[in-house]
Amino acid sequence: MISDHQLLATLNAKFGFSSFRDGQEETVKAVLKHRDTLAVLPTGGGKSLLYQLPGYLLPGCILIVSPLISLMQDQVERLHRSGEKRVLMINSQLTGKSRQQAMRQLPSFKFIFTSPESLTNPDIIQALKKVKISLFVVDEAHCISQWGPDFRPEYLLLSVIRQNLDSPTTLLLTATATPEVRQDIIQKMGLENATVTQVIRSVNRPNIYYAVKRFLSAKEKEQSLIELVSRLAGPGIIYFASRKLASQFAEKLNKKTDKNVAAYHAGIAPLDRYRLQQQFMENQIQLICATSAFGMGIDKEDIRFVIHFHEPANLESYVQEVGRAGRDGQPSLALLLYCPGDEQIQRTLNHIDLPESTLLEAVRNKHQPASVLGDNHELFSFYLKHGYDGKMIIKAFKKRQRNLSSRLEWMAHYINNTKMCRRKMILGYFGEQLEQPQEPCCDITEPTLIQRFEHHNNETING
Ligand code: ADP
Ligand code: MG
Repeated sequence: MISDHQLLATLNAKFGFSSFRDGQEETVKAVLKHRDTLAVLPTGGGKSLLYQLPGYLLPGCILIVSPLISLMQDQVERLHRSGEKRVLMINSQLTGKSRQQAMRQLPSFKFIFTSPESLTNPDIIQALKKVKISLFVVDEAHCISQWGPDFRPEYLLLSVIRQNLDSPTTLLLTATATPEVRQDIIQKMGLENATVTQVIRSVNRPNIYYAVKRFLSAKEKEQSLIELVSRLAGPGIIYFASRKLASQFAEKLNKKTDKNVAAYHAGIAPLDRYRLQQQFMENQIQLICATSAFGMGIDKEDIRFVIHFHEPANLESYVQEVGRAGRDGQPSLALLLYCPGDEQIQRTLNHIDLPESTLLEAVRNKHQPASVLGDNHELFSFYLKHGYDGKMIIKAFKKRQRNLSSRLEWMAHYINNTKMCRRKMILGYFGEQLEQPQEPCCDITEPTLIQRFEHHNNETING
């Protein structure tokens, strides 16, 4: 058994940290005792360390499943920078000779990052079966929840893949999961609830002030955004529902405010995106007009405000996105702008109102273009590929639509609310209670506090 002293010594030697963050020690210890573990720790809470530290203390390799190549790359780079070279990425970019070579040298790697798709490749599974996997990690584990917002169909294959690899000790990592989603994650991984150690920390971010501003029209909202942004101090992000609007507003705000503003979305070339991120990190750009593509893996500490020009699809996304503000612990603002009709944008974006006839036709043709099914397209193809029949597909889609709808209703509830503390509402959604009132809190409990975020006023919010 590894002593507390050894644990701290390794933390210090390998990462240069002198203490654990909340939840880290408990998770690492559970993993080292070979317990299957679900850790729900806030964004930026240090979840990578939960498998990296055990990597240095367990004999075999650590296999990490990640939903995005960019997230894998980010982790690989960080490990390289820390001096760890025994790192491999197995994904669609690794092909031909270099893949064969990597497969032969597999035992020499400590950290192997991969995608669920790659793990459906029999050759890769065969190669992995020959190495000792000390820990099977699922990063962004909420992607497995079929009724959750970031559902990735391929994550459903992980339960079988894990069994194929002789059921190694498993670590499930996520930042935001309601109690319902936590149950779903465990079940879909094929694990027994009673045998899984759960390390759950609050999603509460005490230094974030929550506010909603309502407008009568889109025009009024737009006008107000320009004034608002001119007054707000510090680096910030504004989220939009579309790439086009993000770009348009970046241009407009660049002209009409004294800030350097840039747009960031999936339509911008990877190299440019990388450059923008760097410039934002170094404060050459003070404001980013983004779609939800911006944020995962952004580690800027002093973001002072996150504005939503359009509401997100659910409170999980909202909490994730506003959670990028105030990592340094300083007071920060989460402001949502609303005008009537905004909810329809999300309904359309998520294809919530997809008629049954469209689905039936898609089933009949065994195909339907992405333009009709939207995000559902991927899910649809997955079902077909894995032998779901028409009835099952329709049923699954109906359930998904109901679920997306109810999440959107929660957003409406949050926006229309005029009585209840917003922090309390958010915590309630995640099955938590607000233990004691907080400062700064929200526009319901302290309506005038928002003025303190404006830079002509030098007082701090706590002052
Ligand atoms: P998450 O995946 O939970 O969003 P990361 O693993 O990316 O978070 O970590 C966020 C940041 O916190 C990183 O810069 C990491 O180096 C830092 N960090 C993690 N653990 C500690 C610790 N115990 N002490 C200080 N910094 C830490
Ligand atoms: Mg992470």
